[in-house]
Amino acid sequence: MTGRTHDLAAFTALNYVIISQPLQEISLSTSLVALGANLLGGLAPDLDQSTSNFWRFVRGGSFFSRLISPLLGGHRFISHSILGVILFGVLIKQLLGLLSDVLLVDMEIVWWAFMIGFISHLAIDTFTKEGVPWLFPIPIRFGIPPLKFLRIKTGGLLEKSLLFPGLLILNGYLFYIHYHKFLDFLRQYIR
Ligand SMILES: [Zn+2]
Repeated sequence: MTGRTHDLAAFTALNYVIISQPLQEISLSTSLVALGANLLGGLAPDLDQSTSNFWRFVRGGSFFSRLISPLLGGHRFISHSILGVILFGVLIKQLLGLLSDVLLVDMEIVWWAFMIGFISHLAIDTFTKEGVPWLFPIPIRFGIPPLKFLRIKTGGLLEKSLLFPGLLILNGYLFYIHYHKFLDFLRQYIR
């Protein structure tokens, strides 16, 4: 999938989690940092690809990408697996722990937002032709539907004309049926 689709999927998943939870008070800075973390989480599994959009956020990205991509074993390897979820989860937790002295935000929420983005990435990559090695190092790539020719091609017509607009509509629908909850969420910043 393209970075754009991954970001939208990450946001959709975050949106869904927010509306399915009881509303809690979150500071504006926590909300904004969490949103950023969610979008980065949605791109992070493709760190194993030097062309990933993730690297555009990083200074000297092309240098680091050449360093880190081979470490992750090439495209769709460890970062696209349950092991990768755990590994990144632990690493990001440590990193946020270090940042919590500098930034006055709720790092627990930021961590969850990142992980929701990360997992959403693997979930939608599962619908692509390449599939996802969920059980890495077991070298089997899983895909939905199981027949490869029925799956989506990255950057192809189905992704652009069906999946991306579909996710947009889903966001609109979530917003529509939980309109009052979103208003209550926003209201805490306007008061
Ligand atoms: Zn990917």
